[in-house]
Parts: sequence; C-alpha cells; structure tokens
Amino acid sequence: MTSFNIPPDHPRAESLRTRERLIEQYLEGIVAASGLIAHGRGEAFDYMLGEKTSRPALEATKAAAAMLLTAKNPVISVNGNTAALAAQEVVRLANVTEAKVEVNLFYRSLEREMAIRKLLEKAGARKVLGIGKEASARIPELSSERRRVDPRGIMTADVVLVPLEDGDRTEALVRMDKKVIAVDLNPLSRTAQTATITIVDNIVRATPKLVQTAEMLKKQGVEKCNEILRKFDNKKNLAESIALMNKKLLKLAEKRTLPKSERE
Ligand code: ATP
Ligand code: MG
Repeated sequence: MTSFNIPPDHPRAESLRTRERLIEQYLEGIVAASGLIAHGRGEAFDYMLGEKTSRPALEATKAAAAMLLTAKNPVISVNGNTAALAAQEVVRLANVTEAKVEVNLFYRSLEREMAIRKLLEKAGARKVLGIGKEASARIPELSSERRRVDPRGIMTADVVLVPLEDGDRTEALVRMDKKVIAVDLNPLSRTAQTATITIVDNIVRATPKLVQTAEMLKKQGVEKCNEILRKFDNKKNLAESIALMNKKLLKLAEKRTLPKSERE
C-alpha cells in the first residue's frame, strides 16, 4: 500500500486515486513500469476531453456492446493496467456478453500472469485463459511477447476487446480478420486508428458504461444490435473525438488572446 492520503475535496481526487491504484498494483507486480508511462500518456488526452465521457465515446460504447453481444466467440484481452483499473467490470462484461477472459501481456512473466489471474478470480472470474503454456498459439508477423495467445481464446475469437492495446498487435489482429474493439484515450494512436471500434474514453469511466449498455441492449435483442452496428462509422466517430478536443483547445486559446470585452 502507498501512504499518500488523497484529500476527498481535491478537484482531481478521482484521477489521483487512479494513479495511486496503479502505483499500488505496480508494487504488487500486476502493472508493468511501462504501464505507468502509458497511463500518463492517456491522462494528457483525458485533460483535453475535460475528464468526461463524450457523446462520441458513448456512441462507440453502444456499438462495442452491440458487437460483443452479437459475436460468436468474443474475448476480452486483459493486461496489467486493465486488471488494476477494471477487474470487476471485465468480469461483469464477460458474464453479460458471454465472453472469455484472456491475460495477454507485452511484458510476459508467469509470475505476472498468475498475479493477474488471481486478481481477476478475486473479482469473480471463473475461467482465465492465456496463462503460461496455455498461450501456445502465435499471432503471425508479431515479434513482441503479446503474440502468444490461447488457442481457445484470442486465436479463434471473432471479436476481441483490447482495452489499452499496443498498435502493432491491433494491426496484427485486424490482419487476421478479427474485429477489434479498443478503449484508448489517444484518438491518434495506431490502436485507435486501426481498431474496428474505438472508444476514446478513460477505461475507468468506459468499462462501467460498457457493462450497463450491454445489459440494456441484451434485453432489446439482436436486431437492435445489428441496427446500431449498421449505423456506426468508426472513422467519423474518431474524427468527432479529435474535433471535440480541438474545439476545447481553441476555446481556451481564444480566452487567452482576445481582449476581455470580446470574450464569451
Ligand atoms: P500505439 O502503439 O497504439 O501507437 P502507444 O505506443 O502510444 O500507442 P501503448 O503503450 O502501445 O501506446 O498503448 C497504450 C495506450 O493506452 C495509449 O494510447 C494511451 O493513451 C492509452 N491509455 C493509457 N491509460 C489509459 C486509460 N486509463 N484509459 C484509456 N486509455 C489509456
Ligand atoms: Mg505502442
């Protein structure tokens, strides 16, 4: 446990709690050191979203829930940061969409894999794929350790949810004709640009919404899901997220350069 006490009235208390959680889980061997850097990169983009879920993110979340619900063999790929920040939501989402859960790490070690499995099981997961020798299949043309996948999971999945994914692997999964759903605060990353559906939102906010939306859509049936998927355009959705960030920055810049009388 870390000793830093976050004042509850701190204006960015939630963000600080998330950081502390990641540091704790880094010390527990769940999060990789590079995971802390990746989070910082995400936070910078979150500032530009006003640390709020945007309308385009909500639309992408709806499409993602529809895609998971209509998949034949959906798999949720879990890395260290995802396990640290969203273990319970991953389990709930797997239950509602009947998806498998697989551990997949950039920096693989049996120790880390088992620590993540333990965390997921503590959150209620019944079966966790991709541990040790079980990750016996290989994603072609990929050199990182993330190429090792479970033949019962990612290897044979039609839809893979990859929160906080690396660009190389997203590209490789798409080349294998899989549909890829990413959660990525950076709309410019290769992952965001390559995925089939990109949710530009913080994983902390996105996953509870994804669970809620999947629960709601499940009741509405397959036809409703197909209709949502027909209407969804990922390129347009990404452009809207970028435009939103741009608008926010321009507004701030205007406030600084215009004389007071001309400010809104
Ligand atoms: P890419 O490989 O896709 O070009 P990258 O090399 O910058 O991107 P990676 O470390 O491979 O980044 O992937 C991590 C991604 O996850 C980054 O794009 C980062 O912005 C994003 N990210 C980090 N923390 C969060 C979070 N809490 N919620 C959503 N996205 C996050
Ligand atoms: Mg990368």
